[in-house]
Amino acid sequence: MMYDAVIVGAGYCGAVTARCLADYGKQVLVLEKRDHIGGNAYDYLDENQVLRHEYGPHIFHTDSKQAVDFLSRFTDWFPYEHRVLGYLEGKLVPIPFNLTSIEMLFQREKADHLKQVLIDAYGMDQKVPILELRKNEDPEIRELADYIFEHVFKYYTMKQWGYTAEEIDPAVTGRVPVLVSYDDRYFRNRYQQMPKKGYTAMFQRMLNHPGIHLELGTDSSSRLQVDPAQKKVFLDGQEYPGTVVYTGLVDDLLGCQLGELSYRSLEFEIETEDGDYQPVTTVNYPTPAKQHPYTRISEYKKMMLHPPVEKTTIAIEYPYAYDRHGKKGNVPYYPVFTKASHQRYQDYVSGKTAYLAGIHVSDENTIAITIDAAYLPFFYEMALLDCYPVPIRVIAPGCRVADDGNGIYIANADANAAAPLFTADLLRRNKELGREKKPHCDGLVFECVSLVERILREHGKLPAE
Ligand SMILES: Cc1cc2nc3c(=O)[nH]c(=O)nc-3n(C[C@H](O)[C@H](O)[C@H](O)COP(=O)(O)OP(=O)(O)OC[C@H]3O[C@@H](n4cnc5c(N)ncnc54)[C@H](O)[C@@H]3O)c2cc1C
Repeated sequence: MMYDAVIVGAGYCGAVTARCLADYGKQVLVLEKRDHIGGNAYDYLDENQVLRHEYGPHIFHTDSKQAVDFLSRFTDWFPYEHRVLGYLEGKLVPIPFNLTSIEMLFQREKADHLKQVLIDAYGMDQKVPILELRKNEDPEIRELADYIFEHVFKYYTMKQWGYTAEEIDPAVTGRVPVLVSYDDRYFRNRYQQMPKKGYTAMFQRMLNHPGIHLELGTDSSSRLQVDPAQKKVFLDGQEYPGTVVYTGLVDDLLGCQLGELSYRSLEFEIETEDGDYQPVTTVNYPTPAKQHPYTRISEYKKMMLHPPVEKTTIAIEYPYAYDRHGKKGNVPYYPVFTKASHQRYQDYVSGKTAYLAGIHVSDENTIAITIDAAYLPFFYEMALLDCYPVPIRVIAPGCRVADDGNGIYIANADANAAAPLFTADLLRRNKELGREKKPHCDGLVFECVSLVERILREHGKLPAE
């Protein structure tokens, strides 16, 4: 069979892309090296009849109606708002750290005073990154910030990443803010819900399409070869002219020729307990490793629709150094954000390798862009929106995407038109008209138009501002 596209990976990105292409009438081959679909969101009913998330608890939360509408084709939902408690000074207090956490940890008078100081400085219902709080000029706020940093961030970060908090990119510690609020939900997104029958069931329905041919237990390297000299791809030894969508690790794809990128791994110790184990799905342990060598404990039945009452399954989470050949820590869960790893990533995507131009266009719906590490998807909506096709005609009406072999450019859809339609002004006007998609994700804002604009500028396809 001649496939229009080969997709490597059956996680969020791979499954959504496969389904979108199949809906457009394409024949798609999906290669997945694991023996299951769903990527890191894979779940299954375990021996306690608990829906266990094999790779750690996954909570669906987004502000994107488009993401919810798309997924709702494949699943029903039930409402679920995630709450996390942290073990601080022998107490379980809300995380992110908020006004209730202050009340639980300080004497009443002091707590009232500190809460007022924070509200006066930042206003009610504000999120403040811990690093910003620590730079405040008010010594009382700085003192509180240092307390929070010491008790909530310092050891957790060291355990989670194997680095000190100062060595990590502020974008990482900044992700868990301090909340000037009594709202103890972990996420503030408009949509917070879970697929009724779990993620795997949702992905099964998504991939269940006559145009999708799924092969589990197949590492792409056994079927696909890339010839950097000829810039050609081979499928089962035959030159393959179709589209390849690769959702695995970029250093793996390129044979680690510039060295390995840094990843952090995890191991989960699974235990069965009677009844209920803890008050919420996840309890964090931001304590020194000597006290608790793990970072968090998750109780999966707390995030199920009909939890079985008798037994419960808990997962105790231990961060690990990633070692692709190791017996433990061999799953690359998180990219590590340090300056050095960021630089190596840049080297991979900037063309220093023979393999990757950084951008490739298949058609007006499909542009493969190797995205800056800062934009790597932390959450589904990012993954979803990165690969959900947005026709260029939506972003820039009257235009189409073309590829000159060295990168993409945007041309007039009508080849006979006298003047080029695509200009920086057009992009700006469309922004003003609100045509750009602007999903938010925990402080990260992903702007498709801006991303396209930035990449085109870097490739000299748009004048510098
Ligand atoms: C511990 C943890 C908790 C998280 N919690 C949340 C959460 O609560 N909410 C949320 O929104 N997001 C969460 N995320 C993020 C979420 O998991 C990712 O955004 C999402 O999984 C990204 O999907 P993906 O398809 O890019 O990658 P993946 O899910 O990793 O899927 C990639 C797939 O490609 C396969 N693959 C790779 N290389 C090859 C190859 N060479 N050949 C064949 N197959 C290959 C892999 O086996 C994998 O199945 C969490 C992540 C982690 C690690």
